[in-house]
Amino acid sequence: MATIISSKTIKLTVKDDAVTHAATFEGNEGNEGHHPIVGDRVIKGDGTSQEAWKNWSGLQDMPRFDITKSFAPHQRVCIFAPHPDDEIIGCGGLLQQLTANGNPIVLIHVTNGTQSHPNSTIYTQEKLNTIRPQESMQALEILGVAHQVTTVALNLADGEVFTQQEQFQQKLTSIIQADDILITTFMRDGHPDHEATGQVVASFAKQHHLACYQVLIWAWHWAKPADSRIPWHQAIRLDLTNEQLRRKIAAISCFESQITIDESTGSPPILSAQAIARISQPWEVYLYESHP
Ligand SMILES: [Zn+2]
Repeated sequence: MATIISSKTIKLTVKDDAVTHAATFEGNEGNEGHHPIVGDRVIKGDGTSQEAWKNWSGLQDMPRFDITKSFAPHQRVCIFAPHPDDEIIGCGGLLQQLTANGNPIVLIHVTNGTQSHPNSTIYTQEKLNTIRPQESMQALEILGVAHQVTTVALNLADGEVFTQQEQFQQKLTSIIQADDILITTFMRDGHPDHEATGQVVASFAKQHHLACYQVLIWAWHWAKPADSRIPWHQAIRLDLTNEQLRRKIAAISCFESQITIDESTGSPPILSAQAIARISQPWEVYLYESHP
């Protein structure tokens, strides 16, 4: 578990992508539920149920995202995943539709997710540094998109993206080209690395007048239907076919390190059954703000 910020009153610990551990507090006196980075967007407990989202009319009535109309087939799409697996759990449907549309795809792993298993003798940081990118590769194969994806590892430290924003920005200038479409995690997604990634990529897009879409991942956990902390007026919904959803679910099962119990520490799976249920739906939601 990576300690991001320590102070007398607040000790923030982050376990990459952990539903129950992504942002927890110790000795948090007088500031109940308020996190120094993610504020009140705290990932704790089981989170909002999939049923609650499914029954929300706002999701049913949301404008649809048709990439065949929004993206020219020659346009390159750069997908930023704070940790290897975010590209699949967030964008497993989009990846398949982009591939069918002919778009070249660059997948950028911002970190290699090496902090997901603190104190583990099975999943040491060194092993995770290899295992997690490999799991991502397998998942891309299962999705049937690997041939169209180029993967780039930025090698920022897992859990530390906020403190490495300057380095991140510099790396972006060497990767992004004019006319690229950028896909990132939501800048208020609730996981510090997801928020830092969203902020860096969205501000780069704004500065360079590039299209940028922010995908909701952990927001499904901490937010409630119609939650005012999410700019729903910018939300568009990408619908998956049955086959696309089937492949996405099969691809998620490639992330063995994230979906199994760690026998060496007894820790539960990083992705709980509930978290997997929330992301195994026939839609993905993106926030889009145009920068003329
Ligand atoms: Zn993540």
